[in-house]
Amino acid sequence: MSIISKVRLIEHLFAQLDKEINTFRLKTNLDCVSGCGKCCNNPDIEASPLEFLPWSFQVFVSGKAEDILKQLNNLQETGCFLYSHLSIIDDNIGNCSDYYHRGLICRLFGNAAHVNKYGNPELITCKIIKENNPEKIKQISSDIISSRNIPLFTDYYMRLSQIDFKLGNIIVPINLAMKIALEEVLNYYSYHPFHSRLRHSA
Ligand code: SF4
Repeated sequence: MSIISKVRLIEHLFAQLDKEINTFRLKTNLDCVSGCGKCCNNPDIEASPLEFLPWSFQVFVSGKAEDILKQLNNLQETGCFLYSHLSIIDDNIGNCSDYYHRGLICRLFGNAAHVNKYGNPELITCKIIKENNPEKIKQISSDIISSRNIPLFTDYYMRLSQIDFKLGNIIVPINLAMKIALEEVLNYYSYHPFHSRLRHSA
């Protein structure tokens, strides 16, 4: 399958997830604290390379792939490469510099559940949201057990790996995931022609 076909399938999967998340958020009124980037600033985030294929494709299309790959190879910081610090006092204040192309993990965290050992969905979210909304979290936790109306991590990762098993089924540190995705696109277009009309469709 071509890179562009994979990118389109991943974007379609993300669009379906975004729809489910919107429904979940409308129902629960649960949202991140404004300006908080604590989870993006976490040095231990992991992701699959495949979820960053749309990001790496648009980096390639914009002509910055080699430059960004160099930056990823020379990274000194451990936080996510795309995290943009907005405060010199507090590292946890910031945002994603390419929110539109963020990965699957970034979309799921705080908006999805994993299935616990009793077979019940359990919301995966951060400490700040839990501490700020204890009653709401309690209510949501009980609602999702009865309604099952919440995106599941396993479901979306399984659907992602069906697009490309090799790139979708390995989980690595987030910056390495971006690097592998970028190398995949560069490698693909060193053997396949790149049509400039794609520049407008990306
Ligand atoms: S890609 Fe963006 S949303 Fe995802 S962890 Fe990095 S900065 Fe945060």
